[in-house]
Amino acid sequence: MDLTLENISKSFGEKEILRNISLSINSGEFVSLLGPSGSGKSTLFSLIGGLLKPDVGDIFLNGKKITNKTGYISYMPQQPSLFPWRTVLENAILGQELSRKRDEEKAKMLLEKAGLREFIHAYPHQLSGGMKQRVAFIRALLSPQSMMCLDEPFSALDAFTRLDMQKWLLETWEAYEQSIFFITHDIEEALFLSDKIVVLSSRPAQIKEIIQVPFERPRNESLLLTYPFLE
Ligand code: ADP
Ligand code: MG
Repeated sequence: MDLTLENISKSFGEKEILRNISLSINSGEFVSLLGPSGSGKSTLFSLIGGLLKPDVGDIFLNGKKITNKTGYISYMPQQPSLFPWRTVLENAILGQELSRKRDEEKAKMLLEKAGLREFIHAYPHQLSGGMKQRVAFIRALLSPQSMMCLDEPFSALDAFTRLDMQKWLLETWEAYEQSIFFITHDIEEALFLSDKIVVLSSRPAQIKEIIQVPFERPRNESLLLTYPFLE
């Protein structure tokens, strides 16, 4: 799936946030978005997810206009949105259409590997911010759509857990041939994971530069070479 943003502009009242953003993410590409805090990165993702409406411009997925429409991409917002009345396991497998049983087994396995074994039947209010982030991330991994937008998915995680999550993300990306748009503050993480890095300027945010990352795929192998203890 390829995603195209065409001349997107967005203001909140008098405050101009995004100015004339045009950008393409090609099918199977892993693109990171960097930019100063408050520059409008999360706003851009809400626009792509259809939760906000651009003042100007349109968004296309495979040539089809999806401006203001939800449900076309898999979107993990910056603040993990878990249903408070559902358990961790139920939250993780939410939105699954395939075999429930198989998903449940896989979800349990991932939750255990993510250090949440004792919390599988707990409720979101019993979790720390980093734990909620892992549950929301596992949900995204379990319902891989061809276009996935992740807004700082690993920001609250310790370095070791983060490496595991990066590895799972690369595995899913390679297995499902997804296109990924990924917000991070971590330049090393962006260099390591992505094919392309888009840098926004401070407000009103415009595209400052686009960096093509000169590494070869599959990146998972280089991840394991760098961190062999992951296996
Ligand atoms: P980033 O993700 O790059 O840190 P955001 O997209 O979250 O930036 O926010 C960009 C700016 O837009 C900030 O100044 C923020 O306060 C403002 N903003 C975000 N959402 C809203 C909203 N719904 N209403 C008004 N202002 C908003
Ligand atoms: Mg943000």
